[in-house]
Amino acid sequence: VESVETQVLVVGGGLNGLASALFLSQQGVSVQLVEKNDTTARLLRAAGVTARTMELLQQIGLEPEIREQGLRLVPGEHWREKNSPTNLLPRAILGAKKLADIGNESAFVMEEGSLEVEGVSPQEPTWCGQDKLEPMLIREATKRGAEIHFHTEFVSYTQDADGVSAVVRDLGTGVERRINAKYLIAADGVTSPIREGLGITRTGHGTMGYVLSVLFAADLDSVVDGRRFLICYLLNQYAGLLHRFDDKRWVFGLFWDPKRYGDGEVSPEQAEEFVRGALGEQEIPLEVELVSKWRLAEEVAETYRVGRVFLVGDAAHVHPPAGGYGANSGMQDGHNLAWKIAAVLGGWAEDALLDTYFPERHPVGASTAYQAYLRQTTRSESDGAHPEMVNSTVVTTGYKYNSEAIVGGYDGPAFEHELNVDGRPGFRVPHVWVGKDGAKVSTTELAVREFVLLAGPEGQTWVDGAVAAAGALGVPLKAYRVGADLDDLDAEFTARTGITGTGAVLVRPDGFVGWRGAEGAPDPAAVLEGVLKQITAR
Ligand SMILES: Cc1cc2nc3c(=O)[nH]c(=O)nc-3n(C[C@H](O)[C@H](O)[C@H](O)COP(=O)(O)OP(=O)(O)OC[C@H]3O[C@@H](n4cnc5c(N)ncnc54)[C@H](O)[C@@H]3O)c2cc1C
Repeated sequence: VESVETQVLVVGGGLNGLASALFLSQQGVSVQLVEKNDTTARLLRAAGVTARTMELLQQIGLEPEIREQGLRLVPGEHWREKNSPTNLLPRAILGAKKLADIGNESAFVMEEGSLEVEGVSPQEPTWCGQDKLEPMLIREATKRGAEIHFHTEFVSYTQDADGVSAVVRDLGTGVERRINAKYLIAADGVTSPIREGLGITRTGHGTMGYVLSVLFAADLDSVVDGRRFLICYLLNQYAGLLHRFDDKRWVFGLFWDPKRYGDGEVSPEQAEEFVRGALGEQEIPLEVELVSKWRLAEEVAETYRVGRVFLVGDAAHVHPPAGGYGANSGMQDGHNLAWKIAAVLGGWAEDALLDTYFPERHPVGASTAYQAYLRQTTRSESDGAHPEMVNSTVVTTGYKYNSEAIVGGYDGPAFEHELNVDGRPGFRVPHVWVGKDGAKVSTTELAVREFVLLAGPEGQTWVDGAVAAAGALGVPLKAYRVGADLDDLDAEFTARTGITGTGAVLVRPDGFVGWRGAEGAPDPAAVLEGVLKQITAR
């Protein structure tokens, strides 16, 4: 059997496995990825890309392409406009008894979802289906050296103190290969055979129902009178949700009641009947292209790491699609793990840094799943907002970490009720525009493959101390005074990060604040050496 050496083996080529492979290769880690399907996703699931995910993809250089291929989200109230430009998508979630209610404006708004990223992120969220995004991730990961093998099944593995040894099979030729890696990332989806094999249990509300997704072609624009919207819940005897797939096609997800519909296969003719019933359109030409049934569930794994194996994405946490969080949080999992793996493989962090993946990502995963659960279960016109429901921008951008790799972090829920990204350790660095080498960049873009110390304009001693400490420890780091080395374009840096002119924040390679010193201190090099040692588990 041919045998291949790599640093990380990723199992699963959905959005989250591909993103993990991309972020690892961005960190200079060698990656092999195997995916048993022979193509990327055909039936659209994830399409909402959050501002935070856009920040990460901007660092890859993908932002212009995603914006061009995707749709620009605009505030929900625009849904009432007729024939609005086809590259805009009002962020309105509507409810209606039949589709024609949208045409005559008797539909009601369930959630208008303001965008609220102004001042929070340099990026706007966008709408770009996984059918478009996945090929981009493959291309960029491959460009950075990752080897991505579709139509290849992960068969088995063993792990010991030195690494993981796996057997994979080419499904075209049947030929098996051995892949030896230091780590294994299980991005093998909600049914995760790797998670099941490890006996990892999950908690949560469990199965909440089933959905029959139907991809179909029809000209519905005439029915809605050219109005555009994110999702429409059709609330009648064929209850389900409708959204656009592309210019000609739509997806309808029927809430599947096994007692009523049974659990046999669904023919295209039956699917057409459901879609017509839900839309309230018996005459319009309509062609069903694809039908698939899936389980609606909220389940979060009780551990994300066993030895050299890590769970990422739906394998770690699954929840209803309401809110559009699933793939975004899975991509953030991969991003959290990538720099830590690179640091351990690069010899500048100890293995215990990898133990911080679970305490950082699990509370966020569980809290996000709960927010999706609340959104899924409060959907009728009379429900009103649930008191525990927090704004989507808080869910996707305002969460915090608390672990050994955050100095001065604190306990408490993963996100607060209000958005408060204010420079506290554990939160993503506040977004402030700075001038760097003549270009306008966000503080959220600065840390990629190294730590970045950002000091106030009088914080030169922190800059010198950081460079000395990082040098002594062999930790990659850059240091700047904002308002001196970098221009503080809106004169907001110290106020937004909660420091004085002599203070500093240390940003980890994933963009999260790992430590904050509100003002100057004696012996900055010793302070930062202690901080860097703690974060890197040395
Ligand atoms: C209707 C719907 C709408 C959604 N909308 C959004 C949205 O707007 N935004 C958002 O962020 N999320 C959304 N989600 C959630 C999102 O789709 C999922 O969270 C995400 O796609 C999961 O990605 P994944 O890579 O973790 O898993 P998957 O996409 O399930 O990928 C796992 C892969 O592993 C492969 N695999 C498994 N076993 C093996 C093996 N032994 N060998 C090789 N390969 C294997 C599988 O073939 C599969 O391709 C939505 C979900 C649904 C159902």
